[in-house]
Amino acid sequence: MFKSVRFRLIAWFLGVFSLLFLILSLFLYHKLETIVIGSVDSHLHYEVQLLSSLIKAEGGRIDIELSEAETGDYSIPLSGHYYQVVSSDGNVLALSPSLSIVDAYLPIPPVSFEPVNTTIIGPGKGILRLHNQSFKLSNDIIISIQASESLEEAYNLLRLFRDTILIVLPVVFLLSGAGIFIITTLSLKPLNLFSDKIGRITERNLNERVDMEGIAHEIKPLAMNFNTMITRLENSFLRQRLFLSDASHEIRTPVSVIKSYCDVMIGKERTIAEYQETLKKIGEMVDKMADTICRILEVSRLESKTFQLRLEELDLMEIMGDVVRLFESSASQQGIAVNLAGIHWTIKGDRERLMEAFANLVDNAIKYNRQGGRVDIHVGESGREVVVTVSDTGGGIPPDEREHIFERFYRLPEARDTVRGSGLGLPIVKAIIHAHRGRIEVESEVGKGSRFVVFIPKG
Ligand code: ADP
Repeated sequence: MFKSVRFRLIAWFLGVFSLLFLILSLFLYHKLETIVIGSVDSHLHYEVQLLSSLIKAEGGRIDIELSEAETGDYSIPLSGHYYQVVSSDGNVLALSPSLSIVDAYLPIPPVSFEPVNTTIIGPGKGILRLHNQSFKLSNDIIISIQASESLEEAYNLLRLFRDTILIVLPVVFLLSGAGIFIITTLSLKPLNLFSDKIGRITERNLNERVDMEGIAHEIKPLAMNFNTMITRLENSFLRQRLFLSDASHEIRTPVSVIKSYCDVMIGKERTIAEYQETLKKIGEMVDKMADTICRILEVSRLESKTFQLRLEELDLMEIMGDVVRLFESSASQQGIAVNLAGIHWTIKGDRERLMEAFANLVDNAIKYNRQGGRVDIHVGESGREVVVTVSDTGGGIPPDEREHIFERFYRLPEARDTVRGSGLGLPIVKAIIHAHRGRIEVESEVGKGSRFVVFIPKG
């Protein structure tokens, strides 16, 4: 559940939302408190100013005459409004009826000509706001006036606000949780639809694609990439299948030939010479089959890229010299002259693999040559590459066949019945050269010969 995108989205949203709501509520509560208490303070300040204007000092005597009309609520005994006038030596000069009735006094703060507001516990144990300010009357007489009001109403208002928040918060929390649940469900719907569509594609129906109909705009690139991947998979499956059927076909032919030889031999009694002749032919077939099997294994290993190159410093001229020596006798049997020329170039490569690749090229140049022809091998360089060319004077390769000769099991029709081979040599060459980050090209003129050019990076 914790790994579900929807769960995480809801959790994050509600977490952030609750935090913001809480911060906003605290801010508003604090603002409201400042406003409410500020209004009480300004009311008290007004009252103190009013009282001060009613107090006179004449001939060293303080004259306090406060009428009910002038003091308003402050003259009502249980109004929760209090005032008190105190001389500089701490004598209480006047009290509001709400204090005198309960025989209580307000606390006497130190003399201060600046207004001072404090919160205190009042005579009835209620919380009061106290405003104090000192005034200098004539003859340097100093008095302090304190006015006080109950904060009960203010606190009631704040409590109401707090309670409202406490009720609203869970409701908003639940409503927004439900809202985000619906939103995420709706937003994830296209993904579920896409998941359903891809779930229907298996190895049995790899030719099907996710149809873009109804797929959300945001998911389209994903669907397109998925389709491209399926196309690549399908091609790879097809290649695999084709390779398997070609390989079985290649092996089935010699097996059937061997079987027919055996059938002919056991049909009736034969002479020793006939048995020897047939066994020789069977031996040749088995050799051919073993060679094909080796090549099939080789090509699938090379193309699956699971092999490791054993890189070392190699002199390409030296390698080509070794390759030429391998084919000296077969070339001379066909009266073909093999010439090697060029310069010594050292590259980093896998000796065994490169020998195998170039041996295939030289073998083909001899196999598909004419009696008394020539094979010219040249090692050179061009820009950042070492260039090896293997040219022959054979029948050449028609232009429309050239792109196919690097495909597995592909053989030119004229070569199929006349020249030994499996059609796996050039795919092996190509895979080895590509593994060396190189490339191979072919030029050919029908009736004149072919030229295979291999480019390998110098570094
Ligand atoms: P194989 O030689 O075993 O048939 P390759 O993969 O080496 O297989 O070659 C594939 C085909 O390309 C050959 O069957 C042949 O028809 C053609 N080919 C290759 N090299 C040459 C060449 N030098 N001259 C003419 N045809 C060639």
